[in-house]
Amino acid sequence: MSAPGRLTIVGSGLAGSLLALELVERGLAVTLIDAEEATATAFSYGGVAWWAGAPGPLGPLLRQAPARWRRLQERHGPLGWRRCGLRLHGGGWGSSQLRPPFAQVDTAVLMAALPRVLAAAGVERRRGRVMAPPQPVAAGWQLELESGDPLLAEQVVLAAGAGCRFLAPALPVRLRASWAGVLAQPIRAPLSTASASPWLRHAARRRIVQPRHWQRPALEAAAPGLEEERWIVDAGFAPWGEGLLLGQISLVRPGLDSGEPPPAAAMEEHLRQGLTGLDPLLAALPGPFRQVPVAFCSNGLPLAGPLPGAAGLWVFSGFGGAFAQVPVLAPVLADVIAGVADPGGLARFGVLPG
Ligand SMILES: Cc1cc2nc3c(=O)[nH]c(=O)nc-3n(C[C@H](O)[C@H](O)[C@H](O)COP(=O)(O)OP(=O)(O)OC[C@H]3O[C@@H](n4cnc5c(N)ncnc54)[C@H](O)[C@@H]3O)c2cc1C
Repeated sequence: MSAPGRLTIVGSGLAGSLLALELVERGLAVTLIDAEEATATAFSYGGVAWWAGAPGPLGPLLRQAPARWRRLQERHGPLGWRRCGLRLHGGGWGSSQLRPPFAQVDTAVLMAALPRVLAAAGVERRRGRVMAPPQPVAAGWQLELESGDPLLAEQVVLAAGAGCRFLAPALPVRLRASWAGVLAQPIRAPLSTASASPWLRHAARRRIVQPRHWQRPALEAAAPGLEEERWIVDAGFAPWGEGLLLGQISLVRPGLDSGEPPPAAAMEEHLRQGLTGLDPLLAALPGPFRQVPVAFCSNGLPLAGPLPGAAGLWVFSGFGGAFAQVPVLAPVLADVIAGVADPGGLARFGVLPG
């Protein structure tokens, strides 16, 4: 049983990890607990579209994301942040080679660095699944773990991605979950900057390739009105350590839960068909196919703040553009949790769950 007085974060993906780093910097004792099964962060392109905006005042805040990543790297060492080229294809713009500024957090580098970075910062990490919503007790909150041990914490932050709904069923209905699938190519295929395929040349130069008309945001916005499941393929890829992530297929179901994983063979076939439209050579790369549940909010505004009527219980999830939103919102939420800022600082961004 952990000592009360500590703050426990459920989920050590991007959201839980960056929030933990902010909280220990403010003097809090933090435990991160994670089932270490399906982490969206591990298979993410990590694109940082700081210029792409978000509804309301959150949009301008996102422009600070590059500076936040640079600061994180100055403090903690390499986390995979780098400026990178982006090439957009399709959409009848006359050019298949639009070149907006872009940056990436290489998630293979990030996931490899996080255990060392969190340990060095003094964050306690535990492996374990939380089996039920947190229960209020005199000292704060009690978490029921799969191992049977209870875990006591004065405060709890739910940063469990698609697992948040299970842990707090009353979270706002805008929080939903999808399935996202990629071919996770661990070793870069023999790529050459002299390849006949322009896309393989971009891959060799470590550029991200995406469709000009990205369908995933529209699918997320349509989620509340869906009467049957719908999938789309946004054909493209991103560098991933020494390899490539080729994707991405996204599937959204009616209702608030991601449900069981969709049939992997059918999802992989749909994805490969979508990649064939871009370049058959990409579609022929071996994989393996991996799919993970991804939390999102249907109005594009994540959830960050205290749960109403549950003192000491917080949520940090449902991002649309997590690699721009998390690094700028984590310090704001950490200030509120540490008691040095008012929740009004979060309210102005429209992210409070109440
Ligand atoms: C293919 C793909 C491409 C993407 N591309 C981009 C992109 O270019 N730019 C961008 O900004 N975003 C992108 N995203 C989205 C982004 O990766 C996610 O929004 C983000 O990583 C979510 O981070 P998170 O920490 O909230 O959740 P996660 O990374 O899913 O972490 C949640 C953690 O909680 C744990 N957990 C859940 N339930 C429990 C429980 N009951 N007990 C204990 N632990 C639990 C899980 O094991 C998991 O490790 C992409 C996602 C995918 C899959």
